Amino acid sequence: METRRNIKDLTLSELHAWFEAQGEKPFRAKQIFHWVYQQQVERFEEMRNISKALKQKLNEHFYFSQLQRFEVCHSTDGSIKYAFELADGKKVESVLMPHRDHYTVCVSSQVGCAMGCDFCMTAKMGFVRNLTPGEILDQILEASKDLPEGEVVRNVVFMGMGEPFHNYDNLITTLRIMQSDNGLNFSARRVTVSTSGLVPQIVRFGNETVKAGLAVSLNGVNDEIRTQLMPVNKAYNLEKLVAACQAYPLESRKRITFEYILMADVTDSIEHAKRLLKLLHGLRFKVNLIPYNESPGSKYKRPKWEQVEAFQRYLLDRGVVATVRISKGQDIQGACGQLIQGSTKPEVKSEVAA
Ligand code: SF4
Repeated sequence: METRRNIKDLTLSELHAWFEAQGEKPFRAKQIFHWVYQQQVERFEEMRNISKALKQKLNEHFYFSQLQRFEVCHSTDGSIKYAFELADGKKVESVLMPHRDHYTVCVSSQVGCAMGCDFCMTAKMGFVRNLTPGEILDQILEASKDLPEGEVVRNVVFMGMGEPFHNYDNLITTLRIMQSDNGLNFSARRVTVSTSGLVPQIVRFGNETVKAGLAVSLNGVNDEIRTQLMPVNKAYNLEKLVAACQAYPLESRKRITFEYILMADVTDSIEHAKRLLKLLHGLRFKVNLIPYNESPGSKYKRPKWEQVEAFQRYLLDRGVVATVRISKGQDIQGACGQLIQGSTKPEVKSEVAA
């Protein structure tokens, strides 16, 4: 017997094709998408314009995945970090972040990560498995339940656990469902995918019909430092990475975001800032500076605040858009991959599921 599929793993066109193959009206696909993503129901029984016979058929072929809230941590600034338990008991983390006029969800794309970045807590888990599209979408749907009345998630960033480009096909399917008018209806401008610098996938992603903002986790301004921090640099060094970014087909008024973790005495000097400018010269870019979040046992240190400001000032004075990602649930958010299950920190109010 055919195994049932998670209804949230299918794009609209895949569902359309399924209905057609079943001899059903293909427009049913849009109706199902509407119920799943816009009404956010969790059972076929709740779909009022679907016949009983069709609901039964759908139940025979599909199921609804659901995340369990294993742990929910509230930061004093309103951010919420979730440790979600998947159907197989594995856990991933997501963060809901309030901004002045919108909400962002940071999602994980894998359980663990294979990239081995030296500063990253997730790297210590190693790679466990890829998330399915439905499991990625579930993080957005579940976090949305905590929004105040009338609010919606406007931005999604793929900056949680995992290297999204290592889960490439599922990433693309997820983006298609997110950006479908009948799905979650996200604007491509509001979605950002962050990579550690997998050059072939950067090239491939630039040619996709589905779009999203590109962020590259840079962190080192020469090959020696970057290889020490990010082993991916051995395969795709800075020359190759910058060349791929230069060739990346950016839409007008768009920039590539380079994330740069400031670590005391490793990446935070003005010499590093100078080298950063030289390296990225000629690109349309902005820099997101992330003061390192120390965690128990980490070998890197957070720089002094004056050093962070001096680094940012150096870039701003030379016309570079440079932001500092600060204390948005600092102890619960983390930079790309500074999330790890069970990492509840002291200042975080924690509700642990029974
Ligand atoms: S920083 Fe990101 S890419 Fe690197 S190991 Fe951590 S999760 Fe993976």
